[in-house]
Amino acid sequence: MGGISLAIQLEKAGIPYQVFERASEMKFLVAKECTAMDMYNEQQFEFRLDVSPVFEMGGDRCYIISRPVFHGLLMQGILKDKIFMNKKVLSMSQDRQGVRIECADKSTYDGDILVGADGAYSAVRQALYSGLKEENKLPASDEMPLPFTTTCIVGQTEPLDPTEFPELLQSLSRLCNIKGDNKPYSWMTGATADNRICWVVIEYLERKSSKENASYRSSEWGQEAAESMCKLVYDFPITLRPEGSKMTMGHLLDKTPKHLISKVMLEEKVFDTWYSGRTVLLGDGICSQSSC
Ligand SMILES: Cc1cc2nc3c(=O)[nH]c(=O)nc-3n(C[C@H](O)[C@H](O)[C@H](O)COP(=O)(O)OP(=O)(O)OC[C@H]3O[C@@H](n4cnc5c(N)ncnc54)[C@H](O)[C@@H]3O)c2cc1C
Repeated sequence: MGGISLAIQLEKAGIPYQVFERASEMKFLVAKECTAMDMYNEQQFEFRLDVSPVFEMGGDRCYIISRPVFHGLLMQGILKDKIFMNKKVLSMSQDRQGVRIECADKSTYDGDILVGADGAYSAVRQALYSGLKEENKLPASDEMPLPFTTTCIVGQTEPLDPTEFPELLQSLSRLCNIKGDNKPYSWMTGATADNRICWVVIEYLERKSSKENASYRSSEWGQEAAESMCKLVYDFPITLRPEGSKMTMGHLLDKTPKHLISKVMLEEKVFDTWYSGRTVLLGDGICSQSSC
């Protein structure tokens, strides 16, 4: 998101640039206006968070849009020959003359400025920090791993039949957020313009963890872990229309293809060092946080 947004600005300003993306293709799919977030506990509606003032504050309305659709919209703003797919950046080096990246396919590219917009596990940040560490210029806080206190499973259903899910007949989308009764979970649903329902179930952990933490087990991630969390949350009630419909998360899980379900750690950290020499970091590469 960050990298393509920057590329659009550079395109408009007439500044030369190239984007190196490790994925081999982008997937495209449309937004539904959202004016409210309805908050519930497991028994009843609590309050409505009106998000319509966002228009006055930011000049545009709020939309529920799935990530691939948003990506597709951004991609329309940059020229295809500027983005290089299947280019996993492994390392970078820089000096007074320029900056060079090396990719997994052994190709190298030279430029004047490198922007690391490569997400929470930014390879550019890691390369930048290892150079700074050698020079004793890296603050201790930037050496600490990314911590997380919440994990989630997140997914989107296949396109649904609006007669079965009347929530989809509404012209506006609303986010429904449900706070679990006496359990460390909350969950949220929202309808998209292509008749899908996006959902997320968040688990609040007892203590802070990290990938480097002794209590971290890689077996807790991936397909099987996502499936076992799906079983756990299957009977959690949801609040889709019509009112009193008695639907549960299971109704959505049964309509969600497995490959559209992920278990994710919601890491939160703001790094102190965000540039050095000819390299600058952007987006989750410098500040990862959960917005759920
Ligand atoms: C479950 C979940 C729900 C979220 N919900 C919301 C939400 O509702 N609203 C919101 O605003 N934000 C949300 N976020 C946060 C949002 O997704 C991120 O803040 C945002 O995607 C960060 O954008 P970015 O461009 O910095 O990084 P990313 O979107 O992570 O992009 C990084 C890109 O770099 C590529 N890449 C990674 N490593 C390399 C490499 N070595 N070489 C080349 N390319 C590489 C990746 O393939 C990717 O395309 C959510 C995050 C999660 C996990």
